[in-house]
Amino acid sequence: MQSTMMRTPLNVSHLLERCRLYFPTREIVSRLPDKSITRTTYAALYDRARRLAAALTRAGVTPGTPVGTLMWNSTWHMEAYFGIPVAGGVLHTLNLRLSPEDIAFIIADAGDRIVLVDDVLLPLWEKVRPLVTVDRVIVVPTSGAAVPDGYEDYEAFIAEDAGDFRYPDLDENAPAGMCYTSGTVGRPKGVVHSHRAIVLHALSVALPDCLDLSVHDSVFIVTPMFHVNAWGIPFAGAMVGCSLSLPGPHMGVEDLLDIMQAEQTTLALGVPTIWMAIQQALDREPDRWRLRRGMRMMVGGSAAAPTLIGALEDHGLAIKHGWGMTELTPVGTLSWLKPEHIDLPPAQQYEIRARQGLPIPLMELRIMGEDGPQPWDGTSVGELQVRGPIVTRGYHNQPDDAEKLTADGWFRTGDVATIDGEGYMRIADRTKDLVKSGGEWISSVDLENAIMGHPAVAEAAVIAVKHPRWDERPLAVVVTRPGEAVTGEDLRGFIAPRFAKWQLPDDFAFIEALPRTSTGKFQKTKLREMFHDWVSKTPG
Ligand code: AMP
Repeated sequence: MQSTMMRTPLNVSHLLERCRLYFPTREIVSRLPDKSITRTTYAALYDRARRLAAALTRAGVTPGTPVGTLMWNSTWHMEAYFGIPVAGGVLHTLNLRLSPEDIAFIIADAGDRIVLVDDVLLPLWEKVRPLVTVDRVIVVPTSGAAVPDGYEDYEAFIAEDAGDFRYPDLDENAPAGMCYTSGTVGRPKGVVHSHRAIVLHALSVALPDCLDLSVHDSVFIVTPMFHVNAWGIPFAGAMVGCSLSLPGPHMGVEDLLDIMQAEQTTLALGVPTIWMAIQQALDREPDRWRLRRGMRMMVGGSAAAPTLIGALEDHGLAIKHGWGMTELTPVGTLSWLKPEHIDLPPAQQYEIRARQGLPIPLMELRIMGEDGPQPWDGTSVGELQVRGPIVTRGYHNQPDDAEKLTADGWFRTGDVATIDGEGYMRIADRTKDLVKSGGEWISSVDLENAIMGHPAVAEAAVIAVKHPRWDERPLAVVVTRPGEAVTGEDLRGFIAPRFAKWQLPDDFAFIEALPRTSTGKFQKTKLREMFHDWVSKTPG
């Protein structure tokens, strides 16, 4: 017997059609370079994305052609998010925080021949330009100024009506978008997301226990659209028809809070650094902004400490912690409470919500040790491996890079994690960031979270330093809050109740600011270089 169901391919064009048909008046708001606000609708997005698709088709884009974007979060970028894939092209977002050399490498590796560039990013583009061969550079006049001579104007490019533009017939496994890994080790590698993965991911993250996305939401996409598709929310947002706000180039805390107030944001997305800064601003000026009570904030990219969750809860804001990676589409897990947790005291609830959480539907997780799968007991650690239709099988242009998949087809994340009896996953570390002291592993993430719970600490990162007897010992590199002072001894005493004695750092270093990667994560490679010659104080 065969199923009687239609074989309709899952496709980004369905999301675009849906937002026009059912939510045409819902708004997309974005901040321009001059800080003014512009408002548009899904109906306008639909029209302009289809004009872009038609123009790209005339420019020679066919199924599978990559098109680069060097753009901030804006309505124009939303047009590219839809216009490129519905033309059959591959939306290739370029991370503008990378060096010109890395951007050039990525453009060449992907094979982009057409690139869309915000006019305010032309100074960066001009450093990239001599290093790449592209056919057309189309400049988006976000500043309102005329596009400089020598460049094509995006508005002229899409001026023509889409007319009878028809979506190409695409297999649901056809490529729709591509993103590069942050490349903290070695060169960045390209991950190519299919239409099918993007649609399934949108459905999955929108579910009530996941992000609970709905047409009633006002979603603020602070996460850069050049970083793993802004966690897939532009697609999920169009699917449910929620209104969207986009910060443009203005990522300052006060600018973000102003938009949250003006748009009465119900869900905002960003990395922990952003939320730490927001918490500090709200602590400083608790009465300045009237935010929507119960506003959800999705936090991912690196770990959110329970203290951050608690501190924001005090301001009436609810953190939703998630874990993901470029190699997924990209969200893998989110942490939510089950009914049996509702009566637990707040501190215990924050601890559960600070875990990386449960897999979103269609994802499978396991942890593997040297001796095979590890038990789900919350303490056994192993490499986190994942499987599912939103997980990559490999990398673009790297047919031989098989080591990422296990023999039985699971993707090796490079993260080290535990899973507890209820299925909650907790990241202990990146494989390469664990500290191995006297043959035992110490989780740098646990130490960082605990140290960041001290009121005088703004941020902390823990790395391994060499030790003649114990092989490695943890060194905590700490940044204090402005005007605060604290000693290593104070911090050690503060975290002591939560760790075995041998896990506690003897080494503390205080610096002005932690080095960060282009995606805002603590750059531990840089810290390791900075503290390469550190002599551990742990007795031998
Ligand atoms: P990227 O591909 O740049 O998004 O980086 C993915 C990596 O970021 C993951 O493999 C994790 O090491 C780290 N990561 C992402 N989210 C979290 C989180 N919530 N907690 C801890 N680490 C995270």
